[in-house]
Amino acid sequence: MTRSIDDIMKNVSEKMSKRNPAENKEANEAPCLCQGRYYFIKRKENGERFFEVCPHCNPRLTCKICDSTGNLIQKNKVTGATEAIPNGCECVVWEARTRKLNAANIPEKYLLAEFSFDNIQYGKKHLSPNLAEKFEENQAQIRDFCEHADNVILEGVNPGDKYTLGLVGPVGSGKTYLGVCALKDLIWHYGHNGKFIDFQALLHKIRDSYTKNLSEDEIMEPLRRVDVLMIDEFGKGRAEKEWENEKLDDLVNSRYNNGRVTILTTNYVPKHLSINQIHSRQNADRGAGKTSSQTWFLGEENGSKTSSADGYQVITLSERIGERMYDRIQETTVWVDFTGISSFRKKMAEDFLVRMNETQDPQK
Ligand SMILES: [Zn+2]
Ligand SMILES: [Zn+2]
Repeated sequence: MTRSIDDIMKNVSEKMSKRNPAENKEANEAPCLCQGRYYFIKRKENGERFFEVCPHCNPRLTCKICDSTGNLIQKNKVTGATEAIPNGCECVVWEARTRKLNAANIPEKYLLAEFSFDNIQYGKKHLSPNLAEKFEENQAQIRDFCEHADNVILEGVNPGDKYTLGLVGPVGSGKTYLGVCALKDLIWHYGHNGKFIDFQALLHKIRDSYTKNLSEDEIMEPLRRVDVLMIDEFGKGRAEKEWENEKLDDLVNSRYNNGRVTILTTNYVPKHLSINQIHSRQNADRGAGKTSSQTWFLGEENGSKTSSADGYQVITLSERIGERMYDRIQETTVWVDFTGISSFRKKMAEDFLVRMNETQDPQK
């Protein structure tokens, strides 16, 4: 049974202290590279980035329970012989979960996304007080979902359970960022397997498999089965709507039927959030705060055929994916609405630029 990483940490420290307190004081000389995360981002020679356990904080390296082997030594109850269970010591959990993070295909710019870490604070401080509060509420709602999702993964679905997290909002509102926070939380903190896919990239991969004569199932099956699947830009496609929806339906359907946890982000508006509601809410936000000078009118008035000035699509989600698929999603989804928070990403990027310039030009 999966326990949270904090529980395991406590357990490991307790065991170590009971074992031989004096030995545990032995310091690990390697520098800490993780700022409290237990993992850090390492770069390969080809520039690719990946997760690695902090060489200072990795408890296996100083573990006296297993002498850093990671193996659990125990007596066989029947034969009485001593046997080693490979990777049976709990101190290997950080390495195991780091491997799971690496298997999740998280895009590089979101590798460090994590609830309550710096980046979110940078983005948030540029929002008006009411939008910052809303962002905070969204974060709390998403964390609650993770706790519930952990239960669904371990115990299965109960009637009426919501096991899909739908993050809806305009481009740049931080919904992908918080979605990745949720995905990483379910992997790192709760120990589940997860995968991130960008919907358009997936379609591209499938098309590619046709020309290379590879099996489409090899791509789809892991996505159907994984504990947590995050689909970024849900419903976003271009030309072949019917074919695209067929692929989407495949994923949605199999995950729906098997009660599997899914996180999706979209800027297609779901039915319960009507275009008018969003319009008036954005006006209210604009009136109450100092968020932006950008125009808030909607796509129909804007004349744009695909996406509106506020970063939403002109057509609704049910129009895009069809009523049948929409109903399934609606039945199982907790929606979190990012309307109005369109300056989050832009401000985060601006802030980063300012700080970078400051370090390069101390005269300014
Ligand atoms: Zn560290
Ligand atoms: Zn150990």
